[in-house]
Amino acid sequence: MPANENTLSESLEQTSDFHSQRDSSSGSSESLEKVSNGSATAKGANGLPIDSKRAIKGRCDLSSNETMNQQGRQFHGSLPNRTLHEKFIRDFFDIVLEKAVFEGTSRNEKVVEWVEPKVLPSLVDLTLPLNGVSHEELLTLARDIIKYSVKTGHPHFINQLYSSVDPYGLVGQWLTDALNPSVYTYEVSPVFSLMENELLREMRTIVGWENGRGDGIFCPGGSLANGYAINLARHYKFPEFKEIGSSQLSRLVVFTSEDAHYSVKKLAAFLGIGTGNVYSVKVDDRGKMCVRDLESRINEALREKAVPLMVSATAGTTVLGAFDPLREIAAICKKYDMWLHVDAAWGGGALMSQKHRFLLDGVELADSITWNPHKLLAAPQQCSTLLVQHEGLLEAAHALKAAYLFQPDKFYDTAYDSGDKHIQCGRRADVLKFWFMWKAKGTSGLEKHIDRVFELSRYFTDYVRQREGWNLMLEPECTNVCFWYVPPTKRHLKGKELSDLLHKVAPIVKERMVRKGSMLVTYQSLRNLPNFFRFVLQNSGLTEADMRFFVDEIERLASDL
Ligand SMILES: *Cc1c(COP(=O)(O)O)cnc(C)c1O
Repeated sequence: MPANENTLSESLEQTSDFHSQRDSSSGSSESLEKVSNGSATAKGANGLPIDSKRAIKGRCDLSSNETMNQQGRQFHGSLPNRTLHEKFIRDFFDIVLEKAVFEGTSRNEKVVEWVEPKVLPSLVDLTLPLNGVSHEELLTLARDIIKYSVKTGHPHFINQLYSSVDPYGLVGQWLTDALNPSVYTYEVSPVFSLMENELLREMRTIVGWENGRGDGIFCPGGSLANGYAINLARHYKFPEFKEIGSSQLSRLVVFTSEDAHYSVKKLAAFLGIGTGNVYSVKVDDRGKMCVRDLESRINEALREKAVPLMVSATAGTTVLGAFDPLREIAAICKKYDMWLHVDAAWGGGALMSQKHRFLLDGVELADSITWNPHKLLAAPQQCSTLLVQHEGLLEAAHALKAAYLFQPDKFYDTAYDSGDKHIQCGRRADVLKFWFMWKAKGTSGLEKHIDRVFELSRYFTDYVRQREGWNLMLEPECTNVCFWYVPPTKRHLKGKELSDLLHKVAPIVKERMVRKGSMLVTYQSLRNLPNFFRFVLQNSGLTEADMRFFVDEIERLASDL
């Protein structure tokens, strides 16, 4: 007998042993209780006496009577057990609902409970124990974690391009976690596989691609989506690259504006294109890409005998919220036979609104689009998509057909196995939370959300426009409003003196708001400009009173500067 047959029969024996263990342990909870009450023999499901140790082991590794009393302190299994966990999970849920969801979004509560990094470990015990802690202690830890975490759903958290706790997004996320799917095959993710297709098709329809044709994927963030776009552009032009690598290729150049998201450079480096081959295109005084400068930089690359590969235009720049002129850029891409990627990670949400979608005029001319529903549309993190006009290209560029996951001889239509379009293997279902929101609010609800955040942002802009000490940097296009605030005693300053002062004011005001916990708004410098604040909205639950609060609070925090 060949050695491998021996091994095979051995392992088959082990398998049957495993099954009999499972059978004996799959009895009612009654038999489990008897066991954990210390009776020497217990009845299996079939009524036969079974070895108690084996039953325990097969069940969930409960080791003693004490275990039950200590609410599963020594619980090693990975299965929820109603007796041990139901109350714990409900208590935990109550805490999360009360403290994180409702108190965390209450205007009467702080946005942040600031603690120095050196002090935090004395308030939240982050050390990992040899033996597990009790349920009581776990609940205390949950309270501590919530207490010292920033409440990003708080109405006064306007620090980044995401915020709020959408109730439908939240429960969608919870359901995702309870089901814990990995969306690579229809086999393990039937509903989510089809749900992704449906939702991505709808997003493409909104972009303006007929009947939602094209392709798309969910990505772990807009940065990665931009990286995918670069790889697709390269694969489109040089399909052989996938196999032979970069050594045979000419130097490829990617063009993006100086205000583009840093991920374009970062992913160009990661993909072997090199940050030096991302040519920066100038922006105008509103932060939009200068098409003339784009063309002259393309010609520069051609003179250098490099290959102009793609333009990554931005629809809603991260800081200023500017929209590049997509239609004109598309014409340039056509002229030079280049891929057009539109990074609409931030501004893509405006497409939902009949009133604001003109900002992305020409977006349908793109070869690929990054659109993050977790930003302007306020879906929970992370929810990022890459939409592609070319069918089959994602698969062509990324598929490797791993035999253990994407078996070619499956009994169902494997066109529903989307996994090989991705560079990830296991993949979280980021679709459900957004799909759930969309279902609950409808397309019209999402449109109202967008219209409301734009309306509030315009209200804020008008409110500060004429106000003493407030200086708008530019007329906002998206919901970003960038401004300087000059404290009352410094309003006589001019030129460099004023600029130096402003540069210092923003970080001080920021420190004060964090220590007080009253709000979170970010500041930054840009090119040669001194630090300025960027107010930014994605939370449509805010009110005009909140806008006035932000203004008053900044004036209060800066009153003595
Ligand atoms: C936020 C942002 C990104 C990056 O998205 P992540 O999901 O944070 O990785 C890319 N581009 C623009 C314009 C952005 O604003």
